Amino acid sequence: MRAQDRTILHVDMDAFFASVEQRDHPELRGKPVLVGGTGDRGVVAAASYEARAYGCRSAMPMTLARRLCPQAIIVKGSYSRYQAVSEQICDIFRQFTDQIQPLSIDEAFLDVTGSLVLFGSGEKIAQEIRSRIRSQIRLTASIGVATNKFLAKLASDLSKPDGLMVIHPEMVEKVLPSLAVDRIWGIGTKTAQRLYRLGIKTVHDLRKMDDNWLAAHFGSYSHRIRELIYGIDHQPVHAPDPPKSIGQQQTFPEDLLTQQDIRNVLLEQAQSVGGRLRQSRLPGSVRDR
Ligand SMILES: [Mg+2]
Repeated sequence: MRAQDRTILHVDMDAFFASVEQRDHPELRGKPVLVGGTGDRGVVAAASYEARAYGCRSAMPMTLARRLCPQAIIVKGSYSRYQAVSEQICDIFRQFTDQIQPLSIDEAFLDVTGSLVLFGSGEKIAQEIRSRIRSQIRLTASIGVATNKFLAKLASDLSKPDGLMVIHPEMVEKVLPSLAVDRIWGIGTKTAQRLYRLGIKTVHDLRKMDDNWLAAHFGSYSHRIRELIYGIDHQPVHAPDPPKSIGQQQTFPEDLLTQQDIRNVLLEQAQSVGGRLRQSRLPGSVRDR
C-alpha cells in the first residue's frame, strides 16, 4: 500500500486537565481555571479556554498567569485522575483500531487505514470517536484526519477547540502555503524568529529556498523539512510494544505469619500488577513528549 493511501487521525483533548476539573466540579464551569503548582516556581499545566482568553497558557510560570488573570481559580489537579480518564479515552480508540501511538496523556495518533472497510471513512470514525468521548466521558476532543501524521496533527490544531477537520490530498495546496513556518515540525520558536528576520514567514516563502540554502540552515534535517513543507510525511504510527514483564515487590516491617495475611498481600499485588498491565498500553504511561 502506498503511503498516501493511509488514513491517520490525530486526537487531541481540549484543555484536558482543566476540562476534567470543570467536568467534575460544576462550580468551575465557565470560569478561568488554571491547573498546576501554586508555589513560587509553579508552572501552569493546563489553562481553561476562559483563562486562555486572558493570555494564560500551559508551561507558563503560575506567577505570570496569575498576573494576567487575577480572578483565575487555581487547582492543584490530580495526575492519577487524569490518567484514569486517559485510559477510558484509549478504550474508545481501541474500538476502532489497535494502531495507536500515544503522544502524551491527552493526545494520540491512530492509523485507521485497516478499519475503513468496517467503519467507512476516516471522517466517520473521527465523528464517532468525538461523539463517544462526548457522551461517555463528557469531554470534548478535536480530531484531524489526513493521509499522514504531520497533516493530521496540523488539521486537529486548526480545528481546535471541539473541532473536526479533514485535510484531503487536494486541499494540501490550499492549506499549507500560507501557514507560518513554525507550524513545520522541527521549526521551533527560535528558528522561526531567525527565519522571520530573513523575511521568511510562511511555508510559501520557505519553499522558494533551494536545497543548498536549506542544507546550510537545517543540516541533515533539511530533507525532512523539504518533505514537510510539501505535506509529505512517511513516518508510521508507532504502536508501543507491550512490556515484556511487570513485577511488584514489597518489603514488610514484620514477617507475615498466617496464610490469610499472605493471601491478602498477594491479592493486592495481583491487582496492582493487573492495573499496570492495563495502563502500560495507554496514552501518557508509555511515552511523553
Ligand atoms: Mg490537548
